[in-house]
Amino acid sequence: MSSTPVRLADVVPFSWVDGPGNRFVVFAQGCPFDCLACHNPETIAPSGPGTRLSDVAGVLEEIRQVEPYLAGVTVSGGEATAQWHFVRDLFTELRADPQLGRLTTYVDTNGHALPRVWDELLPVTDGFMVDLKALDPEVHRRLTGRGNDLVLDSIRYLHAHGRLAEVRLLLVPGFNDTPEQVSRTAAWLAGLDPGLRVVVIGFRTHGVRPEHADLPEADPDLLERARTALEQAGLHQVVTV
Ligand code: SF4
Repeated sequence: MSSTPVRLADVVPFSWVDGPGNRFVVFAQGCPFDCLACHNPETIAPSGPGTRLSDVAGVLEEIRQVEPYLAGVTVSGGEATAQWHFVRDLFTELRADPQLGRLTTYVDTNGHALPRVWDELLPVTDGFMVDLKALDPEVHRRLTGRGNDLVLDSIRYLHAHGRLAEVRLLLVPGFNDTPEQVSRTAAWLAGLDPGLRVVVIGFRTHGVRPEHADLPEADPDLLERARTALEQAGLHQVVTV
């Protein structure tokens, strides 16, 4: 398993925004979506300039160098589940390691994966943070190039298994920010679990491809309106970013 390969976009030794506490974050290269609001579009292709090949042993060694300062490890992307063999084997070996076994394991995902992939990851993953780009399948397709059947199934599945750490809503003005869409999304999430942690993120143009750089950014009023709608639906762990 130590030699399970991975194509990396990058690693970040310390992050406070990718799960609980200070975390080592592995950004796996490659993503099945093609989001117009993607802040790291260079991570979408399966390979490319600036990426590098590594494996489980190599990444564990990088984690070992900074272990005393960490609460855990998160695999993000690109899309983490596009290289799920690596994620499974990394977390399996990390948990079995005498030095690293105390670290928590999280996956940051777009949710576009089959139940059999989650079944491989659930035994070794403490929490999943899932993006919900849009509840409406057509809006989701406009934003990502793909439908959202798998994403909605994944959110339900991970919640049923007690590992859905949070759902992230990126509000992109003109696409998924109408009051009707936000309140339908709020009702869907509250129906799943009123105690679910929901993170509302406003779209920013920083990092997006030039052809999308003129999209309007989300203003603070939009985030507050979304928070109110989510809380009125019964959700009581809503965070805006
Ligand atoms: S799912 Fe994430 S990494 Fe993939 S294209 Fe969308 S924003 Fe970019």
